[in-house]
Amino acid sequence: MTQSLTIRRPDDWHLHLRDGDMLRAVLPHSASDFARAIIMPNLVPPVVTGAQAAAYRDRIMAALPEGADFTPLMTLYLTEDTDPNDVARAHAEGLIHAVKLYPAGATTNSASGVSNFDKVAPVLDRMAEIGLPLCTHGEVTDSEIDIFDREAVFIDRVLDPIRRAHPSLRVIMEHITTSDAADYVRSNDSGLAATITTHHLVINRNHILAGGIRPHYYCLPVAKRETHRLALRQAATSGDPRFFLGTDSAPHTDGAKLQPCGCAGCFTAPNTMSILAQVFEEDGALDKLEAFSSLNGPAFYGLPPNETRITLRREAPTHPASIDTPNGPVTVFDPGFDLNWTT
Ligand SMILES: [Zn+2]
Repeated sequence: MTQSLTIRRPDDWHLHLRDGDMLRAVLPHSASDFARAIIMPNLVPPVVTGAQAAAYRDRIMAALPEGADFTPLMTLYLTEDTDPNDVARAHAEGLIHAVKLYPAGATTNSASGVSNFDKVAPVLDRMAEIGLPLCTHGEVTDSEIDIFDREAVFIDRVLDPIRRAHPSLRVIMEHITTSDAADYVRSNDSGLAATITTHHLVINRNHILAGGIRPHYYCLPVAKRETHRLALRQAATSGDPRFFLGTDSAPHTDGAKLQPCGCAGCFTAPNTMSILAQVFEEDGALDKLEAFSSLNGPAFYGLPPNETRITLRREAPTHPASIDTPNGPVTVFDPGFDLNWTT
């Protein structure tokens, strides 16, 4: 039985660090295992210009614990007013590594997202020209579409038309939750990839709703039925270079989660690598963990993999059940089974 596993240091290709006190509380939990992360721009107000991204990067660097080796890869929040020249400048400076598309109203702090996709065509054209990828929150927001169908409908109504209008644009479908999305990624040869979260490999919608409602498992896109979870497990553990880790670790205080209209998001930064080692081992794919968490992502983003390594050991980890912040505790995602790998 494998007792330890040394892999290149992983990266997180979709991470919410928030700002201020929350940033300072959660950042050390990502910086301890991960070398780099794609930082989501959905602050209040959102990060929409290169200048705002530079200022946010500086706040993240200032919040890093002494001696930490962590590089935030910044993104811009796409709005109908985004200036293609500002995007191109921020990319040329090496500041931003992607632009994020949120359909208006899709998730936490996405009120400024895109409603009219024609208005963002000039930005998407410029991104295709300079090789800057588009990250998508792949859900339509129309109130008449069932929440469990919103990802599949997004592919037909939004994503596929965007890709046909901008064929050389590189696109990442983030936090996919359905077999439809995994199949769509596989049906394309190049320029399209998907991130998969830790929690969507572990929970299905029964975990949220059966036998009592569990707000800490509520996230967006919401977890789907078991067949979809199994399709995600298959995609993640296959070694296919088009699938890689984006935790979507999204901290909210318990006060914000546990109320009549609770926030969406699971906080998985502290125990992601322990959970993933267990998931990949269960599926007989421990040898594919490095591809999923450390190799496929940089390859798609055109970056070198990390030169440093981490070692996972077969030993019960000691993650806290929650972390303290000045605004109250943030519960760490509970996979619902005992963990036996630690970093
Ligand atoms: Zn997210």
